Amino acid sequence: MPIVSLKDVTKSYPSPSDKGQLIHAIDGVSLDIEAGEVFGIIGYSGAGKSTLVRLINALEPVTSGHVIVDGTDITTLAESELRKLRLEIGMIFQQFNLFNSKTVAKNIAYPLVVAGVGKAERKRRVAELLDFVGLADKGRSYPDQLSGGQKQRVGIARALASSPRILLADEATSALDPETTHEVLGLLDRVNRELGVTIVVITHEMDVIQSIATRVAVMEKGRIIEQGDVFDVFSQP
Ligand code: ADP
Ligand code: ADP
Repeated sequence: MPIVSLKDVTKSYPSPSDKGQLIHAIDGVSLDIEAGEVFGIIGYSGAGKSTLVRLINALEPVTSGHVIVDGTDITTLAESELRKLRLEIGMIFQQFNLFNSKTVAKNIAYPLVVAGVGKAERKRRVAELLDFVGLADKGRSYPDQLSGGQKQRVGIARALASSPRILLADEATSALDPETTHEVLGLLDRVNRELGVTIVVITHEMDVIQSIATRVAVMEKGRIIEQGDVFDVFSQP
């Protein structure tokens, strides 16, 4: 059974310039992501990738269609149930989205505080996560004291804090140089293999998909124009 399934999903916004017009950001997308895989979503700017991420994470309602996460149709859930669902989905971002006024440890602990996890358990979990991402000595540092690659490692640790089954990586390496990108992709590969987390990699960069994903969907103008094994999709003339 797929862990994420989109069935004929559309998402329209009123046009900012002409309120009578609709922008079809997502236009009839169907997609199955299997538990345990690394799935890539690629497309140029404006293709609808970020919108798709927000629909999977239920940050926005669909206009029509269904989004099924771990067997539950999230398009019918109440806000209280959605909050529980979001604990199953971790997110990392291009600009890392860390709290610069909080230490690394507090950044990682934040989702646990929100989820009501007690202090002793938070401490244990933060130490474990710091260790996993190779930052065992950086718990008391502040984000500004870290390199871009280290900041994204903190982002990954924070995303993993609630032990999600799915990690959504939205242009997570786009702000990093090639060497750091390689290092962060290596960590994501470990998250997938060692923790069994399903990873969805959203990017405009083909080499990122090629180095980590097994299957890929190509988006253009709100539609999936092609999907399949990475090798097959990218080797076509
Ligand atoms: P991508 O992530 O691939 O760059 P987006 O999902 O951000 O693409 O955008 C897809 C389309 O939807 C674009 O035309 C964008 O302008 C439009 N769009 C996205 N979010 C909104 C919004 N909140 N209001 C109006 N239009 C939006
Ligand atoms: P506070 O200690 O103010 O309650 P939090 O509970 O929000 O702060 O902090 C996050 C967790 O990370 C705490 O349990 C804290 O003890 C733990 N922690 C703080 N510094 C480190 C560190 N250097 N290495 C590992 N864990 C740390």
